[in-house]
Amino acid sequence: MKISEIFTRQEKTFSFEFFPPRDEISAVDFGINVGQLLRLDPSFVSVTYGAGGSTQERTFTLVDYLQNKIGLTTMGHYTCVNATHDKVVADINHLKEIGIENLMLLRGDPPKKPNIVFPNPEFQYASDLISFVKTMDFFCIGAAAYPEKHPETLTLKEDLENMLIKYEAGADFLITQLFFDNEAYYKYVSLARNKGINCRIIPGIIPITSYKQIRKFIDMTGAKVPAILAEKIEEGRDNPEKIYQIGLDFSVKQCIDLLEWGAPGIHFYTLNKSRATIEIYETLPKRLKN
Ligand code: FAD
Repeated sequence: MKISEIFTRQEKTFSFEFFPPRDEISAVDFGINVGQLLRLDPSFVSVTYGAGGSTQERTFTLVDYLQNKIGLTTMGHYTCVNATHDKVVADINHLKEIGIENLMLLRGDPPKKPNIVFPNPEFQYASDLISFVKTMDFFCIGAAAYPEKHPETLTLKEDLENMLIKYEAGADFLITQLFFDNEAYYKYVSLARNKGINCRIIPGIIPITSYKQIRKFIDMTGAKVPAILAEKIEEGRDNPEKIYQIGLDFSVKQCIDLLEWGAPGIHFYTLNKSRATIEIYETLPKRLKN
């Protein structure tokens, strides 16, 4: 089913993002965690795609499995940064053939080398890929949004102008980069609406489960951490259970605040682990889940 169709039935969607397991042991662990998450009856799930190339085949295998064997509405992520025209055509056609109707279309991150050259200037930005896939008139298309701006852009204003290009190219909905400061999301939605970006902008939330994990994601995304949370995280850095509880309490409050404000659901960056996402979801008041 297309996610756009789910939107017509569900005012709020709750979705889970996974990445393809790296080896056999991770695959077993993944199976156990996904099994537990399925109890929550997600609106849809999504599977990331390695722009670097190492896990691309595994993304296709996993979306096929989740969609066709487990029966979940599954969105495949796809990046164009390293792709030739022929590869894009072959991959997107393959996804269509296996019945994937939902794609998160991204540029991806170029290799960290100075003066990188895109192999195919036809797909320099996500908007180029979106325009191209839109012509196939088959997929429901998601795109990435950055309430605290993309790290490569100088200003939020410029980022929103680029966001508008992506929206007008054919994005049906947006999922945000992870953030901890809800005010940034509220401001972003308001600015996007003023620009005429009228699709759903689903907040992407990462449960904080360990000190090392959260430092890595903050460094990677540039997400701002509210002072009170930063202080607590530093205090608990040597106590994994304490960090977990701090993260859980924070995420529950963050999700309640978002849903009360009127966010159209939550997309959880699960990191293939079920415990925190289940505990957050189950703690949310029922009235906010419909
Ligand atoms: P774009 O929208 O192309 O933007 C990239 C940069 O270029 C931005 O700074 C933007 O402002 C600028 N820009 C855009 N269009 C123009 C234009 N026309 N002219 C000038 N500048 C422009 N990465 C993966 O490798 N695999 C994944 O599965 C994956 N999933 C993700 C899911 C979500 C929800 C999010 C938020 C991110 C995900 N990413 C993933 C990370 C993403 O690939 C990186 O953030 C990447 O740097 C940008 O991708 P994009 O699609 O947002 O790019």
